[in-house]
Amino acid sequence: MITKEKSETKHESRNKMTFERLKYYRHLGGGALECIASRLSKTPKPLCFSLMVTSMCNCDCDFCFWKSKKGQDDMPTDEIVRLLTEAGQIGYMDSILWGGEPLLRQDFDQICKASHDAGLYTKIATNGWYLETNPDFAKYTDLMFVSLDAIGKAHDDIRHLPGICDKVMSGIEYHKIHSPKMRIYVCCTVSTQTSFEQIKEVAQYCKDADILLYFTVNKAASRPDEAENVVETELENDQLSEMFIKIKELKKQGYPIRNSYYFMDYIINKKTYYECHWPRIATVIYSNGEMLRCYDRKPFISVRNRPLKDVIKDPLFIETVNKCKDCKLACVGNYALDASGLWKLEWPAIKSLMEIAIT
Ligand code: SF4
Ligand code: SF4
Repeated sequence: MITKEKSETKHESRNKMTFERLKYYRHLGGGALECIASRLSKTPKPLCFSLMVTSMCNCDCDFCFWKSKKGQDDMPTDEIVRLLTEAGQIGYMDSILWGGEPLLRQDFDQICKASHDAGLYTKIATNGWYLETNPDFAKYTDLMFVSLDAIGKAHDDIRHLPGICDKVMSGIEYHKIHSPKMRIYVCCTVSTQTSFEQIKEVAQYCKDADILLYFTVNKAASRPDEAENVVETELENDQLSEMFIKIKELKKQGYPIRNSYYFMDYIINKKTYYECHWPRIATVIYSNGEMLRCYDRKPFISVRNRPLKDVIKDPLFIETVNKCKDCKLACVGNYALDASGLWKLEWPAIKSLMEIAIT
C-alpha cells in the first residue's frame, strides 16, 4: 500500500511532462532562434523583459541593493500595462516581474494579466510573504520564483523578517493547490550567510514538496560603488567552487536543481571571465522607468511616456547594450552566463540547457 501511494505521488508530480509545457518549449526554442537572429544584427533585439515593479520591500536583507528605496517613484499601473503590452507587440518573449517585493502592489494581478495578455511567458520573483493574502497574480503567471535561503529561523534571520520561512512554505502549499499550472521555483541565494548543510535542507524541502530549485550567487563585492548599507556576503571563488561541487552532486542524486551544468562547471572551475551578452538579450527596467546600465547601475535612458519601440531603437540604447561584451564583471547571479553561452552557440551551454528543458 505504501509503495502504491509513493508511486502515485511520483506519477502525479507537478513537474511532470504535460501538454501545457509545450508553451515552455516554444518559449525556449523561440528564445534560441531570437538569439541567433539578434546575433547576426548590430541592432539588438532583446527577448526578455525584466521589470522591477516596485522598490518597496518588507524584508531587510543584508545583500539587498534596493532596500534604501521606498517605492515613492514607482510607475503607476497604466504605465506598466502600456509597457508590457508594447513589449509583447515588439516581440519580447517573456517577462520577469520583481522588486522590492512585487506583491506589495495591490495591482500586481493586473500587471501579471497585462503581461499574460501580451503573450509573454510571465515569471515573477517574490520573497513569499504575501502569497496567500495577495494570490490573484497566479491566474496569469507561468512561473514563480520564491526566495528561500535556509530552513526555519536561519532564513528568517537572513531576510530579517521573523516568520517568513513559515509564510513561504504555507504560501507554496496554497499555490500548489490553487495554481496547479504555475511552475514553482525556490530561489536560494548562495552567500556567506548559508552553509552547505542549510542548502541541503532547502534541496530536501524542494524534493519533498515537489517543486524546483535554482541557486543564485551573491556577487555584491564586484561593485564597490554599490548602494548604501549593503553588507558584503559574497563567497570567495574557492569557497564557491567547493559549494558547487557539492550542489552538483546533489543534482546528480536527483534533487530538483535547475541550474545548468554549464553554469555549475564555470563556478567549480573558478573561472572569472566570460564574454557577456546579457544586456543584448534582456532589457532591465527599474521601478521608476529608468533603464540602468548593469555594469555601473547608472541610469541611461527612460521608458516613461515614450513608446518602447522608440527606446530600443535609440542610438544611446544600442550603443550602451552593445558595450556589454567589453564588461569584465562576469556576473553569475542571474541567467547572464547561460544566456551568453547560448548566444555564442557554445555546445556545453546548449546541451546543458536542453537537458533542463526536457526534464
Ligand atoms: S527580499 Fe529581495 S528586495 Fe526585499 S530586501 Fe531582500 S533582497 Fe531586497
Ligand atoms: S557581466 Fe554582463 S550582466 Fe554583468 S554587469 Fe557585465 S554586461 Fe552586465
